[in-house]
Amino acid sequence: MGEISTKVLVLGGGPGGYVAAIRAGQCHLDTVLVEGTRVGGTCLNVGCIPSKALIHAAEAYDHARRQEKTLPFGLKVQKPSIDFAKTIAWKDGIVARLNTGVAGLLKRNHVNILRGHGVMLDGKTCRVETDTGPETIRAEHVILATGSVPTPLPSLPFGSNVISSTEALSLAKVPETLAVVGAGYIGLELGTAFAKLGAKVTVVEATDRILPLYDAELTRPVARHLATLGVEVLTKAKAVGKSKKGDALVVEVGGGKREIYAQTILVAVGRKPLTEGWGLEQIDLTMSGPFIAIDERCATSMRNVWAIGDVTGEPMLAHRAMAQGEMVADIIAGERRVFDKVAIPAVCFTDPEIVSVGLTPAAARAAGHQIQTGVFPFQASGRAMTLAAEDGFVRVTARADNHLILGIQAVGAGVSELSAAFGLALEMGARLEDIGGTIHAHPTLGEAFQEASFKTLGEALHI
Ligand code: FAD
Ligand code: NAD
Repeated sequence: MGEISTKVLVLGGGPGGYVAAIRAGQCHLDTVLVEGTRVGGTCLNVGCIPSKALIHAAEAYDHARRQEKTLPFGLKVQKPSIDFAKTIAWKDGIVARLNTGVAGLLKRNHVNILRGHGVMLDGKTCRVETDTGPETIRAEHVILATGSVPTPLPSLPFGSNVISSTEALSLAKVPETLAVVGAGYIGLELGTAFAKLGAKVTVVEATDRILPLYDAELTRPVARHLATLGVEVLTKAKAVGKSKKGDALVVEVGGGKREIYAQTILVAVGRKPLTEGWGLEQIDLTMSGPFIAIDERCATSMRNVWAIGDVTGEPMLAHRAMAQGEMVADIIAGERRVFDKVAIPAVCFTDPEIVSVGLTPAAARAAGHQIQTGVFPFQASGRAMTLAAEDGFVRVTARADNHLILGIQAVGAGVSELSAAFGLALEMGARLEDIGGTIHAHPTLGEAFQEASFKTLGEALHI
């Protein structure tokens, strides 16, 4: 059995763990990264990246089919078809390229990657089962970054045709009928993609509307588009199991039971932190519900044991994990830092896309602020017209007294790319006048941000 001593041990090579390891390497800290499968974690291998590849391919196919039917700008496309096996191979190729890229970055920064399942024996020691036998690592600092896994429904355990997002991203063919349980991020991103690829999709959501995380104004254009795609959405509907024959999903809805015939059932009812199977019980950390409790430095209740990413709580997003990872490595290297971000942007890659950064008007009011808010619709945007994508808007909320921007939301085609401008405005403490006074290139969707700021000031130019 081998033994390694190191300054930093990172358990888990997802966006949190691999970024922490790269930054630790850059800070010249002796670093070992333990990863049980492939570096990049959920996000790179079975999450953000492969789902966005599938969403893009589905959109391209759907676009071609819509052109065939509606010809809005005269483009003629004859009988588009999609070779789904090739789509999946293309997606796998992107994942493989990024896997190699991340491994290369780790090596370039002198991080020792140890492949194998790690189990913490105490707050400083980890035993890793590698292909060549067990290794024991002793570290001065431990960064826990074990991530999260899909939550199963007891009445619909994963197996056979009941799948999680992981299997949904590697199907051999597009199912003719797909039932999606949960109209959250995964259910709607992937449900929309499969509808565009030709599946008859039914979405079952327990609450009274889709994407309950976002306000109803933002989700309305998404609901409209789901209807045009022929996606049936059942709200206040609870999945309770499979039919006796196994060919239908049984749902409690409207006081009765309904069977939804489905070749495949995608269960997307949330993810849970991975806190089992790696010795957490041996280090006995303070918990915050199902998550490892951390302070504003990502310190756990044990000295020199840090935790980052999905295992530490909501929002379970890759960019939060990365920001925490980068910060913790700096702290271990001696910098004084705290996680004091004004906002963590949230983007939902539905059609149209949704972005939310900072407070919504309702949340701002609930926090006790006197606010001003303004909306600029994409129907009034020349750029949106030229993209044939006018459904949506940008909404800005600011303090009434000094015009400090508190939150920005948008829904519309391609608005995910506006999240950087929105995030920057909040982090830099921008006021409405700062955005109004910034020249925004014409014609771009970003102008809607400037116009929404003008509108909030009562000075809109183009509406
Ligand atoms: P993870 O990425 O889960 O990585 C944890 C790693 O630790 C894994 O590689 C695992 O193998 C390893 N590990 C765990 N235990 C051990 C052990 N004992 N020994 C060795 N290795 C271990 N987020 C976004 O921000 N944007 C998106 O568009 C987005 N899309 C998503 C789409 C889908 C379908 C899914 C499922 C998730 C998506 N997410 C998205 C969420 C994002 O993937 C997670 O927030 C992010 O991956 C969390 O990073 P992490 O480093 O905390 O954990
Ligand atoms: P989610 O929390 O976004 O949505 C789950 C939905 O399932 C909710 O609307 C909930 O009301 C519903 N639900 C729960 N139990 C149900 C039941 N029995 N019947 C019907 N509906 C039920 O979870 P998710 O979609 O699984 O995604 C998990 C996490 O992954 C997200 O919270 C997010 O952190 C991350 N993610 C992010 C992105 C992104 O950033 N674009 C994309 C995908 C996933």
